[in-house]
Amino acid sequence: MNIQQEKILNGGITLTIDDQEVTVPPGTTILSAAGALGTVIPTICYHDHLTAYGICRLCVVEVEQARVLQPACVAEAREGMTVHTRNTRVERSRRTILEMLDSAVNLEEAPEIQAQLDDYGANRERFENGERRSLPIIDDNPMFLRDYSQCVLCWRCVQVCADDAQYTYAINFSGRGFETSIDTFFEQSLPESTCVFCGQCVDVCPTGALKPKREWLLEQGQTPDEIMQMTRMERRRRKT
Ligand code: SF4
Repeated sequence: MNIQQEKILNGGITLTIDDQEVTVPPGTTILSAAGALGTVIPTICYHDHLTAYGICRLCVVEVEQARVLQPACVAEAREGMTVHTRNTRVERSRRTILEMLDSAVNLEEAPEIQAQLDDYGANRERFENGERRSLPIIDDNPMFLRDYSQCVLCWRCVQVCADDAQYTYAINFSGRGFETSIDTFFEQSLPESTCVFCGQCVDVCPTGALKPKREWLLEQGQTPDEIMQMTRMERRRRKT
């Protein structure tokens, strides 16, 4: 077969992305259609194994005839659509999102976002007088630490804890506006919550906001033996 696998078995949608035609099955997002052409659209909140909600807006693209930029992770490809994944308007939007994030959040341990800041020529002083999110590190269990001053509110940890994987519902958004953060219900400690310490939230976090305790202790200069002792003692202490 071909001619794009017989126009994806006759039910396909053909669109143009950055001057290249591509045919995809109905329901394909612009992000996936671009991926089929080898075009990488930057993302933060998107994860291949989680439901996309278009929260971070970094993946916005220009669709001809559309009034506003479209989030590629949730916008579906349509027949005859013409998409520009990286023009001046798109770059300005992505750059501003990154500059705002950088002004408010500690991104030191977010290498992918650091690379995006460089790629889009972000001016790290643009919002230098903006308020920074500064929150104490939460160390309430033997498995991992939570440093929400590094949290970009991508919602990946909440999704993986809920319907996308674990069905545990231990965490969710808390607060409003600038005070929004991730928390347990009624601000309980994690051991008091429904958390089962599966670690999936740590795996999907794109920043250093969620960090295995062992990794953190190694960074603090503790030896593996000292860590073993400490975490054993801590587990015992929490059981009593
Ligand atoms: S803790 Fe990590 S995964 Fe959860 S919302 Fe913040 S940055 Fe995203």
